Amino acid sequence: MIPRRLVILGATGSIGRSTLKVVDANPEAFQVYALTGHRNVARMVALIHQYSPRYVVMSDVQAAVELRTQISAQIPVMDGEQALIEVASDPLADLVMAAIVGGAGLKPTLAAVQHGKTVLLANKEALVMTGLLLMDLARQHGATILPVDSEHNAMFQCLPEQIQQQLGFCDLESAGVKRLLLTGSGGPFRELPLEQLADVTVAQAIAHPNWSMGRKISVDSATMMNKGLEYIEAKRLYNAREEQIQVILHPQSVIHSMVQYCDGSVLAQLGVPDMATPIAHVMGYPQRISSSVEPLDFFTLKELTFSAPDMQRYPCLKLAIDACYRSQFATTALNAANEVAVQAFLQEQIRFTDIAQVVAYQLEHLNEQHRSLDLEELLALDDEVRHRTAQYIQDRC
Ligand code: NAD
Ligand code: MG
Repeated sequence: MIPRRLVILGATGSIGRSTLKVVDANPEAFQVYALTGHRNVARMVALIHQYSPRYVVMSDVQAAVELRTQISAQIPVMDGEQALIEVASDPLADLVMAAIVGGAGLKPTLAAVQHGKTVLLANKEALVMTGLLLMDLARQHGATILPVDSEHNAMFQCLPEQIQQQLGFCDLESAGVKRLLLTGSGGPFRELPLEQLADVTVAQAIAHPNWSMGRKISVDSATMMNKGLEYIEAKRLYNAREEQIQVILHPQSVIHSMVQYCDGSVLAQLGVPDMATPIAHVMGYPQRISSSVEPLDFFTLKELTFSAPDMQRYPCLKLAIDACYRSQFATTALNAANEVAVQAFLQEQIRFTDIAQVVAYQLEHLNEQHRSLDLEELLALDDEVRHRTAQYIQDRC
């Protein structure tokens, strides 16, 4: 077997770690070709010793300087944003895991798509920011996008091949699909009295009951903005209409999402909540490979419960769904405002409940007129909303 050359964008993070766990379980199938990180030098040193990549990138220039002093000169260390784009488009790379968090992952993800790579898409923000433009670029350049996000991966597994092969442009109805059932746990504050939400701490917000994840997505899970971003992601990947997506709370995170067919059948993908499972699925696709995740033990499962999300508790979910049907500009703005607000919450500058309020304000004041739907304009809007949100937080919060 010729090992497939793997580039991991965001190798030092939570998805990066789970990806390398899948490599460990299949050492002959993958070659760790290149890795990227941002500031975590110690983790990158450990990864270099363990995996001997051809080269690495630290997007933070200072971190790259420090890294070079700690490793042998045989492993080149590139630095800066441009280097992320170069590594994502390396002609020798077969698979690109897009696992940088937030808007910082957009340009390298786009570069991988424009070079026709097989892109394992964890960086949902990239798709939320650019929507159909990203899917269209993939079609134009012959890139394959495979969804890593556990819900979209679950749906992918439950959908027929004709849908899997036409992501972004498929027709659910003609494949007999009635609805995509997007499940979510409801996060750590599902039962907290509403009046206590304003006082939750950063430590409480990043302690997810079922999944171990990076800080930004953990806060997004607590506000359910994550489910909102996933709603937009599902709509774009599967070209779904409004009546074809439903969000269901399922606190146990055993079912990772479902597909309901017109004949009444519902197909679900189940498993222990561990990202190595969907990652192994996309890394091996269309073959099945080991993830080294423990099998699900049905005799220890107690109960599986389901309910509708309460939009008063999760205003961010409603903001995202509304933005999704308003315009691409609205979803780009939603993502930008949310990233800045979450960062401010993590730095204890605003309260948990301010996140929704800050995002709502930016959407209320968004003017879509005279904007053309192209990448440049979306990037400019992203930048503009980030600045406006930071200013708003400084002035009002
Ligand atoms: P994380 O914070 O653990 O890791 C983020 C990675 O991005 C790190 O390697 C970091 O070095 C890099 N990074 C951060 N800022 C950067 C910048 N400015 N420039 C370049 N690189 C930068 O995050 P994560 O939980 O691994 O999530 C990564 C992505 O995967 C996110 O888009 C998230 O929504 C998505 N995702 C994560 C999970 C999960 O379980 N963790 C599940 C589904 C989807
Ligand atoms: Mg998810």
